[in-house]
Amino acid sequence: MKIGFIGLGRMGSGMAANLLKAGHEVIVYNRTREKMAPLVAKGAKPAASTAEACAGEAVFTMLANDDAVAEVAFGEGGIVASLKPGGIHISTSTISVALAERLAEAHGKAGQHLVSAPVFGRPEAAEAAQLSIVAAGAAPAVGTAKPLLEAIGQKLFAVSETPKDANLIKLSGNFLIATVIESLGEAMALIGKAGIDRAQYLEILTSTLFGAPVYKTYGALISAGKFEPPGFAAPLGHKDIRLVLAAAEDLRVPLPIASLLRDRFITLLANGGDNLDWSALATLAERDAGMRQG
Ligand code: NAP
Repeated sequence: MKIGFIGLGRMGSGMAANLLKAGHEVIVYNRTREKMAPLVAKGAKPAASTAEACAGEAVFTMLANDDAVAEVAFGEGGIVASLKPGGIHISTSTISVALAERLAEAHGKAGQHLVSAPVFGRPEAAEAAQLSIVAAGAAPAVGTAKPLLEAIGQKLFAVSETPKDANLIKLSGNFLIATVIESLGEAMALIGKAGIDRAQYLEILTSTLFGAPVYKTYGALISAGKFEPPGFAAPLGHKDIRLVLAAAEDLRVPLPIASLLRDRFITLLANGGDNLDWSALATLAERDAGMRQG
């Protein structure tokens, strides 16, 4: 299939490479042009603009946040203005429920389709085509997008005909991951301050009741204190907590733990956490326990 891919950051570069590997004709575009070179070397066609990346049947976006997606979708020469009627925008970034709704409406008016397809999995999973994808949109559009999504992931869940549902599921999932990071950080601070070996503690957890990938992945990062380079940067984690709180407020669902996490992220960012992985949230518990400065 002839497709476009906009946003070649930590996640997008691996995803676009896997679409090429699966035999699709991929036109790539990234705001910082140099990031297109490795994909072009693998056979992608470089686009000079967002509009050029919309020349195919579908276009992926994997951009940082709502502002970036809105700019690329609604700006002059943006996706809504450039994608042909019947074309599909496959939106894989973690964006707000409100923006997904706005996108669905604009694409609908332009005779195009939105498939919301946010992903679970870090850059290593994106590179290995091991993402888990939650997709929502009109059934025929999701059907067309299916082989593309299967080329970048190991699991695909088609959940609904309403795109924003997938975004809410993704945000609620990231809320849960952040709760695990915070609680693991607190437990690790307790164990560490008592002088007990944290690596062995983690092994006890993950080989018994806590064998889930989220405990293994984040437990290993926290236990090793390895927060750089970021796989998922702290400002993005903060964004997702803000977005889940906004969605919850709209639905009048209180999320007291998300409110606490929001403040934890602000504390991390106020103390130099911008370029750290979001699992550095765990360092706050150590700081509160007098185990580290700053
Ligand atoms: P990233 O490495 O920071 O990449 C962000 C991308 O967005 C880059 O291509 C960047 O372009 C582009 N961008 C940012 N602002 C822009 C703007 N105003 N206009 C045009 N392009 C803009 O982020 P990432 O880790 O790949 O994450 C991308 C999305 O995936 C986020 O929504 C994130 O929440 C979600 N996600 C991430 C992970 C993870 O583990 N990293 C996992 C699941 C989902 P430049 O290169 O020019 O800066």
